[in-house]
Amino acid sequence: MSSTRIAATADVKDAYRRVMDRVAQAATRAGRHPDSIHIVAVTKTASPDQIRALVEMGHVDFGENRAQHLSQRVAQLEEFLSRRRALRRVTATNPDQPSIPSEVRWHMFGHLQRNKVKQVVPLVKLIHSVDSLRLAEEVHGVATRMDRVVDVLLQVNVSGEAGKSGVLAPAAIHLAEQIDTMMHLRLRGLMAMAPMTNDPEETRPAFSRMAEIFEEIDKEGISDGHFNVLSMGMTNDFEVAIEYGANVLRIGRGLFGEG
Ligand SMILES: *Cc1c(COP(=O)(O)O)cnc(C)c1O
Repeated sequence: MSSTRIAATADVKDAYRRVMDRVAQAATRAGRHPDSIHIVAVTKTASPDQIRALVEMGHVDFGENRAQHLSQRVAQLEEFLSRRRALRRVTATNPDQPSIPSEVRWHMFGHLQRNKVKQVVPLVKLIHSVDSLRLAEEVHGVATRMDRVVDVLLQVNVSGEAGKSGVLAPAAIHLAEQIDTMMHLRLRGLMAMAPMTNDPEETRPAFSRMAEIFEEIDKEGISDGHFNVLSMGMTNDFEVAIEYGANVLRIGRGLFGEG
C-alpha cells in the first residue's frame, strides 16, 4: 500500500470515530439511545480502500445513489470479503482483532429508473427512494418474480421544491397505503432530504414535518409493526435530524471527504 493510501484510510477511520461521537452526543441530548441510530456510509466519493477501512472497523451499512456505481461497489467489496472469509478459515481466531463482518448491507437511494430495478433489487437490503406508484409496481413485479419480499422506504419531497425526487407530503399517506397492499413489498418507513442550506437550523421545518408524516402513517398500522425507519440527516444536518427522530442517517462527505 502506498503512503497516500495509508493516510486516506487513517483519515477515514478518524472521521468515522468523530461522526460516531457526534451521533452519540446528539442522541443523548435528544434523550435517545445512541444504538438506536444507524449510519449508512454513502460511498459516492469514497475510494475502495476507504470502504475497506470502514469494513475493517466493523461497519456494515453502505449506500449508493446510482445503480451503475452500486453494482461496481458491490463487486469490489465482495471480492475483498470473500478473501477475508477464506483467510479466516485457515487462521485461528485472534481475539485481539476486531471482528470483520462477513457480509455488508447495501442501500440504494437517489432516483431509481424503472429499467434499473431488476439490476438493483438483488444487491440491496433496502431501497430508500420509492416515490411513485409506477416505481413501487415495478419493484413489486421484480420481487414477485424472485419470490422475495423487498424492504422499501417511501421518499417524501417534504419541502415541495420543484424538480426534487419524492412524493409530495399531502400524497404520502395514500401512496403508503397503496404500497402496503403489495405482498412482495414491505414498507419499512420514510426517507427525505432537507433543503440544501448552509445553516442546519433551516432544516428544522422539513425534519419536523417528516416526523409528523411518519406518525400519521404509523397510526394507519402499515406493515404490521415493521414501519420503523426514518431515513434523514446527511453530513451537514444529521445532528438536527436526530432531534426529530431520524434513526437512519446517510453520511457521505463527513466520512470520505469531498472526493
Ligand atoms: C450523497 C447523498 C447523501 C450523502 O450526502 P453527504 O452530504 O455527502 O453526507 C445522502 N443521501 C442522498 C440521497 C445522497 O444522494
